[in-house]
Amino acid sequence: MSNASSAELPKIVDPYKLAEHNSVLEGSIPLRALPRFRDAVLGFDDDAACRVKLSFYMDSQRRRIVSGELEAPVNLECQRCMGPMGVVLVSQFILGLVTSDEQAQGLPRDLEPFLTDDFSADLWSMVEDELLLVLAPYPLHERGDCPASEELEAYEPDGSSAEPEEKTGDNPFSVLAGLKNTKH
Ligand SMILES: [Zn+2]
Repeated sequence: MSNASSAELPKIVDPYKLAEHNSVLEGSIPLRALPRFRDAVLGFDDDAACRVKLSFYMDSQRRRIVSGELEAPVNLECQRCMGPMGVVLVSQFILGLVTSDEQAQGLPRDLEPFLTDDFSADLWSMVEDELLLVLAPYPLHERGDCPASEELEAYEPDGSSAEPEEKTGDNPFSVLAGLKNTKH
């Protein structure tokens, strides 16, 4: 993302007008301004921000679409040692703009609805929803970085591991890489 992303992302916009003009918005949102997300993670730096790039457009069916990508540095609690671990959350998403539940049900399956008012939408709240979706349910340190994995090995004098090395979910970055490609 370019340097433009250091400016704050507009909070309230008219997303339908933006879609008609094929607008691209790029900016950041201070994480401390997202209370639901703040409650869902262990913490983050005081000045930490979510960097966001949003593209508004109309698809061939004249549906109003916003596609976006985001990136946010946070601390999560490792579920093996209960210690802090720093990760960068990343996500890509494509949403269909709707103003009613009825419209939402008319969207194709690959488009998640973004419910807005007729002429205004809260982009910060939408990004907060996307951040909450991308949180791994069971974050774990890399094995070599986790204090608890040494304790696990200490219980096994022959050096064999209690858990298979290729256990999925052992590497937080592989989890995130998987999430990165998930359409929701
Ligand atoms: Zn750990």
